[in-house]
Amino acid sequence: MGAPPGLLAFHDWPRRLSKAWRAGGDALGDLVFPWRCAVCEAAGPGLREPFCAPCRGVLRARAAEIQRNSCPRCAMPVGPFADLDKGCSECRGRPLGFDAAIALGYHEDPWRRLCLKLKKEREAWLAPWMTGLLAEARATELALLPADAWVVPVPLHWLRRLHRGYNQSDALAQGLARRLGLETHRPIRRIKYTEHLVGMNLTKRAEIVRGAFQVDARRGPDLKGRTVLLVDDVLTTGATTGAAARALKRAGAARVVVAVLSRAL
Ligand SMILES: [Zn+2]
Ligand SMILES: [Zn+2]
Repeated sequence: MGAPPGLLAFHDWPRRLSKAWRAGGDALGDLVFPWRCAVCEAAGPGLREPFCAPCRGVLRARAAEIQRNSCPRCAMPVGPFADLDKGCSECRGRPLGFDAAIALGYHEDPWRRLCLKLKKEREAWLAPWMTGLLAEARATELALLPADAWVVPVPLHWLRRLHRGYNQSDALAQGLARRLGLETHRPIRRIKYTEHLVGMNLTKRAEIVRGAFQVDARRGPDLKGRTVLLVDDVLTTGATTGAAARALKRAGAARVVVAVLSRAL
């Protein structure tokens, strides 16, 4: 049994306060609550963000490597001489639901750990820093989005959202939209409560998430011909993201580009 929410919030106040302070970037706050790197936990004077310079360097180098050696359609790793016409050997000819996918890292540490962290509402302050890295590392592709593209988070079912308190994809979408100067919209709803898909194969996952998303009828007309940047934390088999993308396409979206922090291999 965990502590009752009120009690937990009371014990948690120094942490909450330090994060609020950090979000404000206050110099006094940095002295009282020094920053700690979210990857290596090192604290240090002059650290003004959740990634220290060496860790940021490693994350950026890894992101650049992934940009060079991954499939632009499904974001899976490919060899240097891979034929990427209409996708890689993994995804070519396979309907994914979306047109392109951008991943900042692969689902191994530190990204696996950072994504787990982000599932907790109290760690939501990390989201804009993570999407900041994504926007920097993949600036070339993101610059190709039209100015009227919508940034859309993959929604949680309301029951799961109630349980978790917030949707991490929403925090990521907002961070990314702000950084790119685009608008965030929430035109899709998750109408089917699905069990956790961990450990299921692609066919089973696709079957479970079929019809899980629906576009709000009032937002449908605005989606016609629109490019959508669909944002989630992790792209696993692509079944859930694909189902959300299909709902957007059914409503008339012209192109769906997926952006995630982490791509499961
Ligand atoms: Zn570090
Ligand atoms: Zn591919």
